[in-house]
Amino acid sequence: MSVSPPASPKRSHPDEDGSDRPVKQQKVDERDLPSHFKGLKQTQRSGLEKVETLKSLKRSLEPEEDVPDFYGGRTKIAKLDDINADEETRRVRVANWANTIRRKKEVAKTIINADLASMPVEQQRGFDNFTGVLCYRISLFQALLHVPLLVTLLWQYHLPSACTAEDRTKCLACTFRSLIVAYWKAKAPGGGVDHRGPGLALSSIFKQIHVLLRSRGWTEQGQADPDEQLTFIFRKLREDLPTSVYSVLDSLFASYTNQKIPCACGHSSITTGTQSQMTVCLSPKISNGTLLQYITRGLSDTVTYRCANCHSEKARRLTRTFDYLPEILCVQLSRLDNMGRKINTVVQIPDLVDLTRLRNEESMGKEREEEPLKYELTSIVQHRGGNSSGHYTCSVEGPDGRWKMFNDSRVSNTGKGAVGNNFTPMLCFFKRTR
Ligand SMILES: [Zn+2]
Ligand SMILES: [Zn+2]
Repeated sequence: MSVSPPASPKRSHPDEDGSDRPVKQQKVDERDLPSHFKGLKQTQRSGLEKVETLKSLKRSLEPEEDVPDFYGGRTKIAKLDDINADEETRRVRVANWANTIRRKKEVAKTIINADLASMPVEQQRGFDNFTGVLCYRISLFQALLHVPLLVTLLWQYHLPSACTAEDRTKCLACTFRSLIVAYWKAKAPGGGVDHRGPGLALSSIFKQIHVLLRSRGWTEQGQADPDEQLTFIFRKLREDLPTSVYSVLDSLFASYTNQKIPCACGHSSITTGTQSQMTVCLSPKISNGTLLQYITRGLSDTVTYRCANCHSEKARRLTRTFDYLPEILCVQLSRLDNMGRKINTVVQIPDLVDLTRLRNEESMGKEREEEPLKYELTSIVQHRGGNSSGHYTCSVEGPDGRWKMFNDSRVSNTGKGAVGNNFTPMLCFFKRTR
């Protein structure tokens, strides 16, 4: 099933003078988009291969069931599989799933306590917006450069000697790692930042990333959004990193969802999926709605559905829960309405969000985690302007716990979770707290 990505405000430019110049927008036909824009298919093979076998066995026995995918139409969630599970199949599938997650977590444990506390705050620098339309990427990379688990994973587990890419100059993982090292480590002799030295190295690596992303298929024609850039980066990292490393990265960012439509006859249709960003639809507006209220609303709906068992077709309640929630939660606020206009609904982004009650209490059985699922805000990529022009900045928590606002090459101190005047949060990164 093809899943359309929600449109989001397109094209951006640095409005150094504070004005929003219109930027020409190219219309994009969904059918022409590379497959990675049609959903987060990069996580499709992250350890569920055994399930695939079961699925084909089941399919030979049962007719295809047309499971409505209400969520897919509104978000970027890609479907992993459609399993018309009877209880036994379901139990086997869940057991496999639990094993996969446990295995990943074993690996992830070695870096789970990573933090950036030892990183020098004077290294937090801006990036030159050398093409004039890179504020979306600068903001996203500032957020990613401040995710300790990602920084540590690439830094420690993708050493140049461990790279298996045919052409290392085209390996995004290698170049991203170089950027991380230059950003956090490079210090001029005698302390301080030498702008002719490390600064130059940093900007030249940032330019390398620009060239590399283009050579790997990224195009800014009407697609310059941080969330799509993130999806693209994950896809390329999946191609570049050895499976053992990518699967850890995947487990750090991916949510596993479980969509259930029960029928009065006892049969339940269950669909599972994974996504590396949680997309939250802001339309229609919830009066004084909190982020958690918007997230929760997106998890249930009423759909017309024909049961594969008793063949009755009627409106039924569809509910979605999470089989697994990640260490790093990336929430995308979908800010375009059906007419293509930007939604400026104000949603307060909380410092702490508790998703414990969204966990699927059935599926994990005794493997289920008992710990609460609480998340602390670490950065906000934000946007000002309309759907065809505007500017992105990013507020981020630094190694010292203080927040900074990154606006292209400019860096300033700011408050926790700060959102600039007339800016609206687009991508919010949270880390799980324990
Ligand atoms: Zn590499
Ligand atoms: Zn039924």
